[in-house]
Amino acid sequence: MAVETYSLKTDGDKYLTAHFRVREFRCKDGSDEILISTELVDMLEKLRSKLDCSININSGYRTKSHNKKIGGSTTSKHCKGLAADIICKRDGKIVPAKEVCTAAQDLNFDGIALISATATHVDMRGYRWWADETKNNKKVSDFYAYWGIPYPEPTATVKKGDKGTPVRWVQNRLNKAGFKLSVDGSFGGATDRAIRSFQKREGLAVDGKVGGATRKALKKHA
Ligand SMILES: [Zn+2]
Repeated sequence: MAVETYSLKTDGDKYLTAHFRVREFRCKDGSDEILISTELVDMLEKLRSKLDCSININSGYRTKSHNKKIGGSTTSKHCKGLAADIICKRDGKIVPAKEVCTAAQDLNFDGIALISATATHVDMRGYRWWADETKNNKKVSDFYAYWGIPYPEPTATVKKGDKGTPVRWVQNRLNKAGFKLSVDGSFGGATDRAIRSFQKREGLAVDGKVGGATRKALKKHA
């Protein structure tokens, strides 16, 4: 994990990646020094591409004094250059922050928080912290389940060892088919046993892999 130090005056117009410039991460108090995590910018590029949107950074780097002035947390990841508060726009319209949170979850951002209906906090702090700031920073383990948003159907084969939203889709469907799995997004032994049992029951090839045929069978359990 690398956090680089830039100067607004000399580096402001420099592109960090294809779509993000140094100045977009500047502290709103006008300070010349800007700290930016390279990992964060790479993740923002991925988010931009996934949502097919533009991303406005409302708040990127914050100096300690500016953070204090605006009432930020004393442990704010913004002060370390690891965080960004963003508003995403597609075709001139704001992408709802709930959609941004679930997309950020798919990409496995370390920190994700709903700030409002339109604004989202994301960061790369080195460990998971998902929360709802509109509800006193209530911890969230899965934004889809939290808001009752359906998991998107996987587009590739899901198998043992996989992690993330495609696994949650499989676990959720298996539960609808009568299994009792924890929808934790981690394809371990229990999920493997359940999928093999499901495949056997459905007369499918028993390989523990969720490809097109198994997905189709799982979809019958809505
Ligand atoms: Zn923030």
